[in-house]
Amino acid sequence: MNWFIITSNDCNLQCAYCLNEPHPDLPITPNWDIEELKKFLSNDKNPDIALYGGEPLLEIELIESIMDEINANHFTLQTNGILLHKVKTDYLNRMSSILISIDGNKDVTETNRGKGVFDKIKQNIYNIRGRGFTGDLIARMAVSEVSDIYQDVLFLLNNEELTFDHVHWQLDCQWDYDMTERWNDFPKWVEGYNKGITKLVAYWLDKMRGGEVKGIVPFLGIFRNIINDTKTDLPCEAGLRSFAIRTDGIVTFCPLPPEFEKTIVGDIRKNKSEELRNSVKIENSCLECEVFDLCGGRCLFANLYKLWGEEGFNLVCTTVKHLISEFLS
Ligand code: SF4
Ligand code: SF4
Repeated sequence: MNWFIITSNDCNLQCAYCLNEPHPDLPITPNWDIEELKKFLSNDKNPDIALYGGEPLLEIELIESIMDEINANHFTLQTNGILLHKVKTDYLNRMSSILISIDGNKDVTETNRGKGVFDKIKQNIYNIRGRGFTGDLIARMAVSEVSDIYQDVLFLLNNEELTFDHVHWQLDCQWDYDMTERWNDFPKWVEGYNKGITKLVAYWLDKMRGGEVKGIVPFLGIFRNIINDTKTDLPCEAGLRSFAIRTDGIVTFCPLPPEFEKTIVGDIRKNKSEELRNSVKIENSCLECEVFDLCGGRCLFANLYKLWGEEGFNLVCTTVKHLISEFLS
């Protein structure tokens, strides 16, 4: 199974999406010890570990102990990239993949994440590639109102200095209760987003006809299922085979704030890891949706909470349905 381990709730940036406001009920760093973690995970014969935060690299020593003590199949790191140069080379090169939060070119990235962030990421990518990191380097975009999906994805995918193998994204939506809290006009933005997706699919297919499969993660899974005539489970596998371990030892189906009670599935001090498998599943309207077999329900959190109500949820679904229809056509 996949285990997100939150090594710190603090961050060294203050991005527009979360403002670095750690929840007061959670310890900033883990109050569990490595032996407790080891005992909990010993029940999973094939664990993958995803180091996560806040900014996980604020706790590099803890990361080193986890990598020394836990016999994982894969280690991955999701980071804002600012401290990557501090990771010792032998640990760096044991990471299977590193996901760096970056939203597009310097302007787009720094509008959301602050001045100087883009150049620091570029420097640190140069640093880790220079030290022999050959694992999967993934640009992890948060797509917001300033994003142009076509331009931003192409920029990250083809920039020779950034050397990303894959680009992945998630829309910055449905994390608050009101669509207008962070979006001026989400419905209008969706229209432009869908047009950008049409262009991006055309680009991707064109490259594929020339023999090159570009690493656009949201396309790969859907396309694979279409050509193989297979169905997908929830793509992120939250609640099925992917879980998060909070700093207080509580296990949730994915790394979300503690006020969302339905995300809690267990406790590393009380449960065995294997018994959490398949503990939460997609519910309600998704099960009757015409594209459920290719979408898989998109996001367990959004499915269970629908923070923007039915209408807002369905509006986001139009983006998924549009993407799928582009491939089907
Ligand atoms: S498109 Fe929307 S309703 Fe349909 S399966 Fe996906 S998330 Fe659920
Ligand atoms: S449930 Fe939603 S927020 Fe959680 S990992 Fe899956 S897609 Fe991300």
